[in-house]
Amino acid sequence: MDELLREMEAYARAHETPILTAAARPVFLRTVREASPRRILELGTAIGYSAILALREMPDAEIVTIERDLSLAETARSFLCRAGFEARAAVLVGAAEEILPTLSGRFGFVFIDAAKSRYPDFWRGVQPLLAPRAVVAADNVLFRGLVEGEGSEAWPKHSYRTMVLRLREYLRLVRSAPGFRTEVFPEGDGMAVSRRME
Ligand code: SAM
Repeated sequence: MDELLREMEAYARAHETPILTAAARPVFLRTVREASPRRILELGTAIGYSAILALREMPDAEIVTIERDLSLAETARSFLCRAGFEARAAVLVGAAEEILPTLSGRFGFVFIDAAKSRYPDFWRGVQPLLAPRAVVAADNVLFRGLVEGEGSEAWPKHSYRTMVLRLREYLRLVRSAPGFRTEVFPEGDGMAVSRRME
């Protein structure tokens, strides 16, 4: 499995496909472990790297993962198959915002890692799907230090503006959401971990 993960990292580098960074991985794995989910929902599969990490960490869990790019989804299916996880993983192809309302059942862990300008929509979209005490982790919420903290005071440059403003909106939303407690871990590009308290 380690060899397959190294191959995936090399593949992602060669194809310039963003996957969970080495810096963010420990936070991700710790959060999955703590959530101890039976069902996992992921928005943004890419090549299936974080999905494989989560399934390896949680041997009894299943994952539903959504990817809008067909060719990436097919690559992810092939890697998941090689990891021996094909029976535990459903890769759905399409825009997460359109697929979310069609899903049923509850998820104990949700990983938001798709279009950053849609994070507030994703947060609202996953609410009906959360199990009691579910955990929602969202990657890249500090986007290159532009979202908050030192260095984020300047008006973001045009190409990043919508994304940065939506990420700020996401952080406001999760921090003020009744019944949730949110921590933002700075590792990597920043990961917001929102725990449902009941
Ligand atoms: N979670 C993956 C990992 O760590 O291995 C990386 C995901 S990558 C950062 C983001 C992925 O989200 C891209 O493959 C992109 O095609 C996909 N994506 C972007 N917007 C999306 C949307 N609205 N619905 C579904 N997938 C989307």
